[in-house]
Amino acid sequence: MVLSDIEKYQRNLEAQKRWREKNPNYQKIWHQRNPEKSKKYGRDFYYRNWEKRKLESKMRRRRLYSKNPIPIIERQRKFRWKTKIEILFSYGGNPPKCACCGEQELGFLTIDHINGDGAKQRREATLGRGGHIFYLWLKRNNYPEGFQVLCYNCNCGRARNNGICPHKKSMVGKYEI
Ligand SMILES: [Zn+2]
Ligand SMILES: [Zn+2]
Repeated sequence: MVLSDIEKYQRNLEAQKRWREKNPNYQKIWHQRNPEKSKKYGRDFYYRNWEKRKLESKMRRRRLYSKNPIPIIERQRKFRWKTKIEILFSYGGNPPKCACCGEQELGFLTIDHINGDGAKQRREATLGRGGHIFYLWLKRNNYPEGFQVLCYNCNCGRARNNGICPHKKSMVGKYEI
């Protein structure tokens, strides 16, 4: 008797079904018998489901957020502040202070690019407009050199006075430049 491909396939399927009925833990047996395949299968499964799981966790976060956003916002705020404090301590000493005028008010302190090429560097590292993402970048890159703590006054003053804080080179009366 010659079997067609479809018949062979059906026979195999039935044999497989019978074997599985006899061995209820057939999945486990298969994994033990095919360790390499099993590993590969697990890996493939992991990657196939990567996007799905990412989406699921995003939706879960979204659901939680829409139910009660306050604790999530509060947690984010705390995390961002904690990161900023760590950065200020790493670059501004203990307690952190402005490298120019000595201001210690945390609400005024920020990170300044010593060479004044912040915008360029941020563009290259795609760090957005600075702020939290920039602070995280500093942390992840092990606090690279070239940055210092300044207060906003000295930081903005430098930017407007060719890189020298007006505390050091006054702009008073300089109505023309
Ligand atoms: Zn200052
Ligand atoms: Zn200054």
